[in-house]
Amino acid sequence: MTSLYAQRRARLAAQLGPGGIAIIPTAPVAARNRDSDFPYRHDSYFYYLTGFAEPGACLVLTSEGEATLLCQPKDLEREIWDGYRLGPQAAIEALGVDAAYPSTEIDTRLPRLLENRATVWFPFATHAGLAARVEAWLAPVRARSRMGVLCPARQDDLCTLLDEMRLVKDAHEQDLIRRAGAISARGHIRAMRRSSRMLRAGEDVREYHLDAELLHAFRDAGSQFPAYTSIVAAGANACVLHYRAGDTPVRAGELVLIDAACELDGYASDITRTFPADGRFRGPQRALYELVLASQQAAIAATRAGQRFDAPHDAAVAVLAQGMLDLGLLDADKVGSAQDVIAQRAYFPFYMHRTSHWMGMDVHDCGSYVEPSEQDQTSEHQDPLTGQTVTRRPSRILRPGMVLTLEPGIYVRPAEGVPERFHHIGIRIEDDAIVTAEGCELVTRGVPVEPDAIEALMRD
Ligand code: MG
Ligand code: ZN
Repeated sequence: MTSLYAQRRARLAAQLGPGGIAIIPTAPVAARNRDSDFPYRHDSYFYYLTGFAEPGACLVLTSEGEATLLCQPKDLEREIWDGYRLGPQAAIEALGVDAAYPSTEIDTRLPRLLENRATVWFPFATHAGLAARVEAWLAPVRARSRMGVLCPARQDDLCTLLDEMRLVKDAHEQDLIRRAGAISARGHIRAMRRSSRMLRAGEDVREYHLDAELLHAFRDAGSQFPAYTSIVAAGANACVLHYRAGDTPVRAGELVLIDAACELDGYASDITRTFPADGRFRGPQRALYELVLASQQAAIAATRAGQRFDAPHDAAVAVLAQGMLDLGLLDADKVGSAQDVIAQRAYFPFYMHRTSHWMGMDVHDCGSYVEPSEQDQTSEHQDPLTGQTVTRRPSRILRPGMVLTLEPGIYVRPAEGVPERFHHIGIRIEDDAIVTAEGCELVTRGVPVEPDAIEALMRD
């Protein structure tokens, strides 16, 4: 039986062309400060092809399907300090590669592997210094050209091949994304309950209390890390898009926006919920919340195989534009109809980000947002806000197994003409969707989105 990873390597090898060879290093260890490293996280491309999470490794793959691994050598002293190492000898069987050598030999092994190959593939602009290392490995190959050795004449970006492979998730990947989403949903529920419980007890709730609930739920279920730094934003902090969890008091009567989710076995999830700190939506909060929810519903309805990546965004914006007029966030006398609001991007002060991104091993996953077969079909238009000329290409056509987020929002900073009752309210609702033939599967609905359901769960 060939493993999942061997199958992926075979699929990649078949795309390298005659005489192709690919070099895929994992991520380096990153120092946090003296003698202390950040928690280690492998490189996603490398892991996709090996399932191997140790640092200091590099995979070399030829178009004939020959896989060579360079990995940390066995070293009793280092293993006493830093932990178990698989080592090259055991790696051959454990990872199903054809050959494995200690990473200490990389600078002599790589030139030998590159001899007489036509094209060197490696991921461009993802590993600092890799291009220079490839050059250094090629130098001795060129030096041996007098002996009749051929030096690769072409270098090509391996991301173009791997991004396309990673964009469509197989059953194993979808399963991990579902599980990560379920764990993250439980974290959100814990945070919501903690907030209302502490406020009922008259306690001093801070953003970090809610962050602690998320982290507890993630680790308690076996997740290795948060998939990204949690946003836990009380009240007006929700209008700062990349706010982190700080120590701001969480107050009754205000909303809390949490954008947080875990990574499980190399796969991310990505959830945002916005809820009333004490478990009861106030009038203007509920009005805006229901608008964002309706826009997300429109985005969900527009997500299915055959639709464009832009379709959910356009659907969400159409609902938001009309709702902003209806609620008086925008003044129809000044901005005109919903069509005008969309054409002039008048909604932009309240909704300044896109509705979706790819999600997978990386929370903002790889994959082109342009349909590859149509990338030459450019059109130009003038942006109504900046006046700049923007070149557009047809956006990606969705296929079953692609995974994207659906995350509309509204953020109201105080400004002239903006009704005061909406000031400082920031709302986003984000779920992760696996595209299917008929629609999409939301894998993060273990935590409710309906305002009544959120209120009910926060009452305990
Ligand atoms: Mg998010
Ligand atoms: Zn997101």
